[in-house]
Amino acid sequence: TNKVTIGLIPADGIGREVIPAARQVLESLPKSESSPQFNFIHLDAGFEHFQKHGVALPEETITRLRGECQGALFGAVSSPSHKVAGYSSPIVALRKHLDLYANVRPVASVAGSGQKQLDMLIIRENTECLYIKQERIETDANGQKVAYADRKISEYASRRAGQMAFNMALMRDKLRSQVPASERLWQGKPKVTIVHKSNVLSVTDGLWRETVRSVKENNPQAYGGVDMDEQLVDSMVYRMFREPEAFDVVVAPNLYGDIISDGAAALVGSLGLVPSANVGDHFVVGEPVHGSAPDIAGQQKANPVAAIRSAGLLLEHMGYAADAAKIYQAVDGVLREGQIKTPDLGGKSTTQEVTDAICKRL
Ligand code: NAD
Ligand code: MN
Repeated sequence: TNKVTIGLIPADGIGREVIPAARQVLESLPKSESSPQFNFIHLDAGFEHFQKHGVALPEETITRLRGECQGALFGAVSSPSHKVAGYSSPIVALRKHLDLYANVRPVASVAGSGQKQLDMLIIRENTECLYIKQERIETDANGQKVAYADRKISEYASRRAGQMAFNMALMRDKLRSQVPASERLWQGKPKVTIVHKSNVLSVTDGLWRETVRSVKENNPQAYGGVDMDEQLVDSMVYRMFREPEAFDVVVAPNLYGDIISDGAAALVGSLGLVPSANVGDHFVVGEPVHGSAPDIAGQQKANPVAAIRSAGLLLEHMGYAADAAKIYQAVDGVLREGQIKTPDLGGKSTTQEVTDAICKRL
């Protein structure tokens, strides 16, 4: 059998409601010869853990992830908007510790749901840009404060993100070829859209753009079949809202990728629907795109779909694509039926009721 140990890190807020939901779905997967047998271990992290114990990402969590787990699911963390001495976001640290260099974020409408149709995959570079958090404050000649932040863009990280984008474009094309043409949202050649702002930031975003472009240019045998275009980040937002069907794979530096994916979530109806996977060469962490949602935490109002789909992505990137597909189909089935849904989608069902409905379909 394929024994798989998954670290569960619910962390803060609705993370504590949606991670148990994702676990329940994984446990409800029908057993087959090739499907994994799960062992789950609970691991601590988050702002509440920091408030109690003075540390947001305990050493033990990293050690056990590295030593015992093949993958993990992360809920969400509450990061205050004001500076708290000694605190920094554990998920940002975890991505660094485990070298999870790409954040893969599929955003797709459910066929037959009456929504604007789109099927895009956002690849967010996950290790640098402004998230290196090299900030400092100085005082100017008038005694007023001036704050600066360094932004890092490396050829190395840009190339890895670019390669992930082109590889995922080919992978999606292969999967699409297996569904009838009439059911495919994307009809053309696979496409990678590079997001940047190198008309203004010609050095940093200039290097990003050049490097991602060179991934295709230097490897025509592998990527010749993938179209490449580019979009300035501001017009990217505009076009994405007006014609989201124009995008297949979108690759962006860390901050732009973060912002674009929340915007894309609005197009499919809720942040509570959009999953992600933090992917490295040796480890995967599934993680819903949303945060800890303190406004609805502890009320069974959280939509568990983003976390459940993140569990699917985790399986997919661990090599269990068939099991992942079963999760996606069960989720789509419940969404298409439209009876059982949480308040973010206009329904009255609880987190548990949605989870049970998905499990029942499995
Ligand atoms: P948020 O994503 O937590 O919430 C934004 C809005 O979407 C809220 O109205 C919330 O109720 C709703 N929402 C989010 N997830 C939902 C779900 N599953 N079901 C139903 N509704 C959902 O973003 P925010 O309010 O800007 O931030 C709250 C906290 O989360 C902050 O402390 C922030 O730092 C943190 N955050 C963490 C992560 C992460 O863990 N990766 C990401 C974003 C924000
Ligand atoms: Mn975000």
